[in-house]
Amino acid sequence: MPTETFEFQVEARQLLQLMIHSVYSNKDVFLRELVSNASDALDKLRLAALREHVPDADVSDPHIEIETDPDARTLTVRDNGIGMSYDEVGQLIGTIANSGTASFLQELREAQDAAGAEGLIGQFGVGFYSGFMVADEMTLVTRRAGEGRGTRWTSRGEGTYTLERVEDVPQGTAVTLHLKPADPDNQLHDYTSAWKIREIVKRYSDFITWPIRLVTPPAEAATADRDAPAREDAPAEPETLNSMKALWARPREEVSDGEYNELYKHLGHDWRDPLETIRLQAEGTFEYQALLFMPAHAPHDLFTQGARRGLHLYVKRVLIMEDCDALLPSYLRFVKGVVDAQDLSLNVSREILQQDRHIRMMRRRLTKKVLSAVKDMMAKAPERYATLWREFGPVLKEGLVTDSENRDALLAVASFATTHGDGEPVTLKGYAERMKDGQEDIYYLTGESRQSVENSPHMEAFRDRGIEVLLLTDPVDEVWVDAVGEYEGRRLRSVAKGEIDLGARPEEPLGGEREKQAEEYAGLLGWLAERLADDVKEVRLSSRLTVSPACVVSDAHDLTPALESMYRAMGQEVPAAKRILELNPGHVLVKGLNQAFRDGEDRARLTGTAELLYGLAVLAEGGRPKDPAQFVKLVAERLERAL
Ligand code: ADP
Repeated sequence: MPTETFEFQVEARQLLQLMIHSVYSNKDVFLRELVSNASDALDKLRLAALREHVPDADVSDPHIEIETDPDARTLTVRDNGIGMSYDEVGQLIGTIANSGTASFLQELREAQDAAGAEGLIGQFGVGFYSGFMVADEMTLVTRRAGEGRGTRWTSRGEGTYTLERVEDVPQGTAVTLHLKPADPDNQLHDYTSAWKIREIVKRYSDFITWPIRLVTPPAEAATADRDAPAREDAPAEPETLNSMKALWARPREEVSDGEYNELYKHLGHDWRDPLETIRLQAEGTFEYQALLFMPAHAPHDLFTQGARRGLHLYVKRVLIMEDCDALLPSYLRFVKGVVDAQDLSLNVSREILQQDRHIRMMRRRLTKKVLSAVKDMMAKAPERYATLWREFGPVLKEGLVTDSENRDALLAVASFATTHGDGEPVTLKGYAERMKDGQEDIYYLTGESRQSVENSPHMEAFRDRGIEVLLLTDPVDEVWVDAVGEYEGRRLRSVAKGEIDLGARPEEPLGGEREKQAEEYAGLLGWLAERLADDVKEVRLSSRLTVSPACVVSDAHDLTPALESMYRAMGQEVPAAKRILELNPGHVLVKGLNQAFRDGEDRARLTGTAELLYGLAVLAEGGRPKDPAQFVKLVAERLERAL
């Protein structure tokens, strides 16, 4: 069978370069990654055997084996798990199947400090490649359970790797690292030393539920009699390194934070510590234990459909399902962890899981537990809460729409950017407490970016009067504000919708003055409404503008343009809602237009001005004029005349 040579994908090659010129301060973690992969492979074999019959699969004595050879300077991590087919090796190991990788590499190059870079890599699960931090060559020999032939993959971590089919390969995967030359000044990093391996496994992988055995050459094992000649023929002595104890089943006092963190890293494919660890012990007729983690950083695929989600479901310490997404609602999809039930059918399929009474019971309880942990965090650890909300607020807010049962709990922990002085995010409670005398509603504005929202003409009168407005810029904001509608009896109102009457400012025309103004403008407004009838349903004088000449607003119950395009993107038919054009009678442009209209100015010329005014209003809220070319032509014409 010929050996084929392949080029790494560009991205994979870049990652490898990063690995080789290691950005990690702590190289020991490569072993954790390989052990973690081996453990996953054993889980997968067990789950496959549980669900379908895998002919010729060997499921006896599943284990992980680490073998060192100081003379050859090699380290091998071996498992008898699911293994990989020839094609799978090419796919899984030869490429980085991740669409976000390019942008990740960009971020990585920009990351200032090593810690930042380390964190970033963690998000992208480049576990296997981390071997190149300590090895100048890696070999992987694998045979997929149930298949006859195996595959050998080798690479020096440079531009290429080779693939070759091989016979007589045991089931599972063996990864051999040809370690870089030993550093005589740093014996601490000799990965062929038995005590070093023991120490790393104990530190990072103690909880792994499969035995991790160390196989050392006889000379190393017999440290007591170092001088004895190595007996070439003596069998290697395996030694189990990990305790295999389930952390969630051990009493809290017995487990260190470090141990919890390592479990999280394994489950979450993350290199960083979690933000929060949550334990739950449910007693009574239906017993279960849960250990949940909130990550400190949003993964890149948080909004990717079909990404891996969910908790690991165990029944009496045995993993029966990875990524079980029925255990938490979708808006808590960032939570990682395990649930171990005493008494659950082992043959639950994903399809019936959602219906299962016990699963539903656990889901309710776990949801409440997570939300109360968020509430506690908010009260006791504001900085951690701020991190959580920054990373996962956009996801948690989905719950405001989908989970009416927990809506109040979610509203209590939600916080928002605001126009208020210090720029700190504010809760609805905080907002309500500092509302102005006489203010009844909670005001917000949705939009694409904080800047565009803050500078929107809709804000002007609010800014002028010092009324606080929440700045909502996540896509989900458009939806939840409508679904929720009010907070403790106060309406949530968009400053870009409906009529806004904030009462007169001292310098503003009052009562009679206003009526007079309305009379003066009646002709222009009527004429404009006719001219712009294709786009707007009404033209009126504004009480929300102080600086801008015009703005467009929606009726209180109309969809906003953003929501409209969101529905369209989801393939839903929605009629285009006509907007309302509001003019600022205090603005020179508007005054001049009215004067010209009343003076009987040429209507064709006025039409151009009317279209310009409308176009400006659309631009100011972040939209685009219906006919950009025509708009530009009009602007250019006017500029030319002004020269
Ligand atoms: P991750 O483990 O984060 O997915 P890796 O680069 O470490 O990333 O591994 C890529 C993929 O290669 C794994 O998801 C798995 O499918 C496969 N793989 C790695 N190691 C093994 C192994 N020991 N046995 C079977 N498959 C493996």
